[in-house]
Amino acid sequence: DAITDTVPEAQLRAGRNLEHEVAQEDVIQLINMNKWYGDFHVLRDINLNVHKGERIVICGPSGSGKSTMIRCINRLEEHQQGQIIVDGVELTNDLKNIDKIRREVGMCFQHFNLFPHLTILENCVLAPMWVRKEPRAEAEARAMHYLERVKIPEQANKYPGQLSGGQQQRVAIARSLCMQPKIMLFDEPTSALDPEMIKEVLDTMVQLAEEGMTMLCVTHEMGFAKTVADRVIFMADGQIVEENEPHAFFNNPQELRTQEFLSQII
Ligand code: ADP
Ligand code: MG
Repeated sequence: DAITDTVPEAQLRAGRNLEHEVAQEDVIQLINMNKWYGDFHVLRDINLNVHKGERIVICGPSGSGKSTMIRCINRLEEHQQGQIIVDGVELTNDLKNIDKIRREVGMCFQHFNLFPHLTILENCVLAPMWVRKEPRAEAEARAMHYLERVKIPEQANKYPGQLSGGQQQRVAIARSLCMQPKIMLFDEPTSALDPEMIKEVLDTMVQLAEEGMTMLCVTHEMGFAKTVADRVIFMADGQIVEENEPHAFFNNPQELRTQEFLSQII
């Protein structure tokens, strides 16, 4: 009996460990990453591992390199030193790798960057049809699915200019999701919005987080950071100065620059 009892337990434990390892799989690795704009050393020795399903909030003063860092992850900006590895693929000048990574990584910006001359639905099917070569019917069905998820299916045939800012940002999120990314990057998605529209966009992001999406969000919405983030990262002068789980980050910041920043925004 003792033996038969211990066997399943050992298996269970092994299974748990395995699960733990899978959960800890790094989908993004930045290793000693450096970037310059001309002579200006904008990112200094950035080291960051993001696990599958992890929600990371990046904050820090304006000009600290937050946008540059996340733009490097899908090669909207090029880094000059160190390594960026996304889902096992290293970002180099190899266009095949850049393509592969861009398919895995969705991005939402402060300004929604929707195509103004295309309807919401056309905005959503463009990349799936032209990049992924999906048949229109399939692309449209998925677009409608995601427009429903962000709660604006009834807007599908309108143009971006006919929607509110909050609605446009939700379209931008739905459009990214239509490419079925493994990772979503957000760069201050709510900072161009009127206050009454911030919540509807944050709610969409919370829902994504609850569904297990791996997310890197540059945001100053500290309520979002506190409730959703697994880890908060503070950047200043092109460096990661401090990182911690939200409770410790907000209640017990270690670095003077973090304390100063938090005292200004909270
Ligand atoms: P953040 O998103 O934290 O506000 P950014 O990544 O946008 O910071 O910018 C970091 C620094 O790099 C700033 O000093 C900014 O002026 C500079 N910078 C950003 N983009 C460029 C660029 N394309 N060329 C030169 N300098 C840039
Ligand atoms: Mg920025």
